[in-house]
Amino acid sequence: MRRSDRGQAARANAIIDSSYDLPRMLTATRNFWETETKHKLKSKDLNNQNILDTFAEAIDNLCNNRENCTAVAFETPNKNKLIISTNYVEHDAINNFMREVQNMPGGAQINDHHYVIDNSLAKHAEMKVLDWFSENRRNPGYIGISKPACLRCAMALILKNTDFCSTSGRIWNAGWKMPVCIGGTQMDSHKVSTDSLLKQFIGDESSFFKTSQEEYFKIHEVYDKFNGVNKYRYLTRLEGLEN
Ligand SMILES: [Zn+2]
Repeated sequence: MRRSDRGQAARANAIIDSSYDLPRMLTATRNFWETETKHKLKSKDLNNQNILDTFAEAIDNLCNNRENCTAVAFETPNKNKLIISTNYVEHDAINNFMREVQNMPGGAQINDHHYVIDNSLAKHAEMKVLDWFSENRRNPGYIGISKPACLRCAMALILKNTDFCSTSGRIWNAGWKMPVCIGGTQMDSHKVSTDSLLKQFIGDESSFFKTSQEEYFKIHEVYDKFNGVNKYRYLTRLEGLEN
C-alpha cells in the first residue's frame, strides 16, 4: 500500500532536520553541479581566452586586495561600454584600468563603463554582473572573470546561458550568495522564488540520494514536498556549503 501524500511530505520535511540525511542530499546537489559544469565546459577551447578575461585580470592586477575577483562583460549590444563588478570595491583600480584599456589589444573602442554596486554579502563578482543583466532584461553572452569560476557560479552561469572561460570545479568556502535571477532572495527577504531555474539549480530529473536508512529519493521529489521554510533552509545550506 502506498504511503499517503501527507506521509511522504512528512518524510521529505524530516530529511532537512536529519543530521544524517541532509548532508547526503546536499552532496547529491554538489555532485550534480560537478557533473553538469564538467559536461558543459568539455567542448570549450580553454586556450582561446576571451578578451573580457584579459580585461578582468588586468583590473585584478590593479587591485590592492589579493582576494579580489573581477567580472567584466560588454554592455550588449554596445561594445564600447563595459559592465564591471568586483568582490571588493576598488574604484581607483577600475578608473586606472579605464584609462589604460584603449591601449590594450581589443580595447580601442571602449570609452565607457558601469560599475555594478551590489552590497549583498558574499555575492561573487560574476553573479553581480549576471543579476545586472537580468534586471536590465539582457543577456551578457559572455562574462570575463579574473579567476576560474567556483562551482556554484559556474552552475548559475550555465542556467542563464552565459559563457565563461573555466571553473575551478570547487566551492569557495568563504560563502556564496545565490543571484536573484536564479531565484535567490533580495537582501532582507525570506521569500523563496518559485522560479523553475531554482529547481534546475539543485538537480535534474535523475539526481538522487540515498538516506542513512538506504531509501532512495530524487532531489526534485523531496524539494517539491518541502514546505516554504524548508525550501529556504535548503537553499541557505547550499549557499553555506564548503569543500
Ligand atoms: Zn563564484
